[in-house]
Amino acid sequence: MKLDAKALRYMSAEDFRVLTAVEMGSKNHEVVPTSLIAQIASLRHGGSHKIVGELAKRNLIARVQNAKYDGYRLTYGGYDYLALKTFSKRGSVFSVGNQIGVGKESDIYIVANEDDKQLVLKLQRLGRVSFRSIKSKRDYLQKRKSASWMYMSRLAAMKEYAFMKVLYENGFPVPEPVDLSRHCVVMELIDAFPLRQVDEVANPAQLYSDLMDLIVKLAQHGLIHGDFNEFNILIKETGKPILIDFPQMVSTSHANAEYYFNRDVECIRVFFKRRFGYESLLYPKFTKHIEREFDLDVQVAASGFTKKHQQELEEVS
Ligand code: ADP
Ligand code: MG
Repeated sequence: MKLDAKALRYMSAEDFRVLTAVEMGSKNHEVVPTSLIAQIASLRHGGSHKIVGELAKRNLIARVQNAKYDGYRLTYGGYDYLALKTFSKRGSVFSVGNQIGVGKESDIYIVANEDDKQLVLKLQRLGRVSFRSIKSKRDYLQKRKSASWMYMSRLAAMKEYAFMKVLYENGFPVPEPVDLSRHCVVMELIDAFPLRQVDEVANPAQLYSDLMDLIVKLAQHGLIHGDFNEFNILIKETGKPILIDFPQMVSTSHANAEYYFNRDVECIRVFFKRRFGYESLLYPKFTKHIEREFDLDVQVAASGFTKKHQQELEEVS
């Protein structure tokens, strides 16, 4: 899905009111009835009807014909619009530039804030892949899935922001988090290449030990990255690694903590052997080495991303 920066410009205050009404109505309706949209937007039925049609034409909302009633749901396009509008009001995003990444479950853009400082915008796209592959399911189920996937994307962004913030504030090498709205996070742009694209490093042994130290230090703070691999480690020109991508992080008190920890370690060992021909007998093991010194996982929960949110996210991953 492309982020349509052009669609962002041409929208009247009334269009925005109606779009916001669809979002508000979605909180307790899978499909928001047209009459409810008009009521929330407090526009005459006729007035909102026309705008609803236009928003649908621009793919910001989508018409859903349901067994019980007809109505509309927000699309990712509309959700993107609302998030960007919020960022723009707060001054954290002023313009949208090139797309630099497209993952299975996110889109990454370079953006600039009011002061023309370049930043990164990450939009969660949970369910994009699986949504297409469940075509055979009954219609209403698909719609329900799409609404809940939007909620899941919001949870993933909340989680990413909460972890990035706690890690950043505790001196970990991660991008500085800048802003959060709905399914989107704005963060510092790191001038670096993913390890995946790095063919040679000055000192593989040094980088290897830096990365293993990072895994251990995270665990000593109560955390496991859970996807610690060559795609999620950026290498600066100085050779310094920066860690990104946090929606799958888990606490060291998680039931499968040992499995996730050892998998992170193994990812690095396998990659270093394959890419740099580097192997070491030394590598951390969850059980023996890790003694907890801080409780960042507790700090994350205190930030509003709770255990309940965590469970909801785990159910779909
Ligand atoms: P996904 O969840 O899709 O894997 P990531 O957060 O790992 O998303 O980002 C995907 C890619 O986008 C990364 O591999 C990296 O190339 C780029 N990227 C993400 N965040 C940043 C950042 N803050 N600075 C620079 N590049 C980034
Ligand atoms: Mg990634």
